Order: sequence, then C-alpha cells, then structure tokens
Amino acid sequence: MLKDLCSCKITNSLKIEADFVADAIWCNQCGENLDIEDFPITENLKVELNQWTGLYKKISIKEHNSRGEHLTEKVKEELGPEYKIVFIPDRK
Ligand SMILES: [Zn+2]
Repeated sequence: MLKDLCSCKITNSLKIEADFVADAIWCNQCGENLDIEDFPITENLKVELNQWTGLYKKISIKEHNSRGEHLTEKVKEELGPEYKIVFIPDRK
C-alpha cells in the first residue's frame, strides 16, 4: 500500500496514462498525478516510462498504446498483486 502520495490516505489503485507534463502513474481513486520516484520499481522501468511519456503524440496512437500496455504489465510485475493497475489507452 502506498501512503501519503496523493489526497487519499492510502491507495493501491493506480492507472498508467501519458500526458505531456506529467509522470506516467496516477492515483485511480483521486486522479492525482504521482511521482514515479516514489515507487519501488527498477530504475530501468522508470526510464522506460519516462521515455514513453516523452514520446506522447510523437508516435502513432497504435504504437503508443501497445508500448503503454507492455509497460503496464511490467509495472504490475514489479509492484506485485496487491496493486490494482489499469492502463488508460490514448484515443485521440
Ligand atoms: Zn489518490
């Protein structure tokens, strides 16, 4: 369980979504953007997530969503089963 990262007292419900000026991980309860440095995931995965948000709207929606799904699976593997993590695909 993550504590004091957002407006929620605790959260284990996260979403992975790209935006121009935000990190890739959001609280799926209050909707606030979270700092990926606060997560116990590997440096390698943090770099991959930042590269992915950096490419937002620079690659096709299809490629964006396919990379995003792949990264979401990696985040799930690294954070473990107590977290509920969903991927929000880009539609525009
Ligand atoms: Zn929250």
